[in-house]
Amino acid sequence: MSLCSHPALRSLRRSAGPEHCRSLPRGSPDSFPQSPPWLICHNPPASFRDEFISLENSVPDYMSESTAFSGQDTIQESFLKRIAALESDTKSLAEELETTRMEREEVRAKLFESLIANKKYLREVERLKKENLLLKRMPLFLATVVEMGPDYVLLRQHGNNQEFITTVAPEMMEQLQPNSRVAINNSLTVVRILERSVDVRAKVMELVELPDISYDQVGGLEAQIQEVRETVELPLTNPEIFQDIGIEPPRGVLLYGLPGTGKTMLAKAVAHESKATFIHMSGSELVHKFIGEGAQLVRDIFQMAREKAPSIIFIDEIDAVGSIRTHDGTTGSAEVNRTMMQLLAEMDGFRTRGDIRIIAATNRIDILDPALLRPGRFDRIIEIPMPSLDGRLKILEIHTRKMRKAEDVDLAEIAKATDEASGADLKSIAVEAGMNALRRNANIVSKDDFDKGIKKVLGDEIDGSEESLRMFS
Ligand code: ADP
Repeated sequence: MSLCSHPALRSLRRSAGPEHCRSLPRGSPDSFPQSPPWLICHNPPASFRDEFISLENSVPDYMSESTAFSGQDTIQESFLKRIAALESDTKSLAEELETTRMEREEVRAKLFESLIANKKYLREVERLKKENLLLKRMPLFLATVVEMGPDYVLLRQHGNNQEFITTVAPEMMEQLQPNSRVAINNSLTVVRILERSVDVRAKVMELVELPDISYDQVGGLEAQIQEVRETVELPLTNPEIFQDIGIEPPRGVLLYGLPGTGKTMLAKAVAHESKATFIHMSGSELVHKFIGEGAQLVRDIFQMAREKAPSIIFIDEIDAVGSIRTHDGTTGSAEVNRTMMQLLAEMDGFRTRGDIRIIAATNRIDILDPALLRPGRFDRIIEIPMPSLDGRLKILEIHTRKMRKAEDVDLAEIAKATDEASGADLKSIAVEAGMNALRRNANIVSKDDFDKGIKKVLGDEIDGSEESLRMFS
């Protein structure tokens, strides 16, 4: 019987399958090679070993026939060695497989991350492309709609004041109205309509249709009120008086005095009494916040005053724009000068239109440009002084009108004790006194509350003056 016809080997060959066995010996045991591998098994199946052991234990026919088969032990040993080697190979391959699997997972995770990053970069590239396009685009110019016809609009370009007529797409035409602000391109076509909220004018000025402050709320400034009434209120309410007499009504007044003396209040009261729109603009904001736009804003504000006439333009801190021109060559000074020139031009320009008045205020009249102080610009220059004793009493009365005061509160005495106080300080003292009473849970304000208020509001000044006296004594 040939070795390969041995039933155990045949079954082994069957169970191992052709993919595991490269060669199995054929022919007689004599032709059977002595040294392995005559059976090369790759990746042996789990049952391989058990089967082989049963093969080893079974006594093959040919062995009983021929006891001379001397290499039997050697073959068995070599089989076992080979199997052990294969098993260790399998183990290390399995380990390798596991490592590779883990590496694959890692690479997969990295790939996923790179995909996400890639998407992000693509988006960024897209954004930069758009930005680039925008940067390459020609800038747009600002213009205001002056007039509208059935199929055209008359625009005035900001900056150069050039006026031109252009046509607008019908759907845009519906949204336009006189005074709308629009953006135009190089060929003077309306590209977009600007919203009202984009209008910077709103940020630099306060517009009060009708302030609610009356003359009786301003204390101790009777002479000044009289003067302002003549110069500002009368030309607005009774322009014909000036025509009858044949004089040109004054255009505006300049109020000067320390901060908190009631300049703004007075201007508001005039607007209230003459039923005029009150337009408040701050010189310092005009210069500091709207660099490059100052002159245009002045133009816009006067334009608005004309639209809302009768109106009073109150220019607070005019010294920020109208100080002596420096010409130091810096862009800052050039900007201030441009704003100032525009202001002078506007003031000269509305000579004939009787329904706009200017009230300007400053606490630095000493640095004002003489061009502003020339006759014909501000017809009156009125000093608003620090309140006198009588004035302080009146101001205190105004601000404590609605207050429940204890019997020991003597306003005249408080007025005497507040020699250095401005109108704004006196108001603060009254508010502080009220707050002190609140803190005590009282509903009536006592003398002590006022004393504490005075100390709190004027304390620094009193201490400061004592210190300075000590310093110079
Ligand atoms: P100015 O414009 O001179 O800096 P304001 O008119 O803004 O001063 O005054 C600030 C506050 O001080 C006012 O709101 C008002 O309550 C108070 N005040 C100042 N002066 C007077 C005054 N003469 N009569 C009554 N209140 C005054």
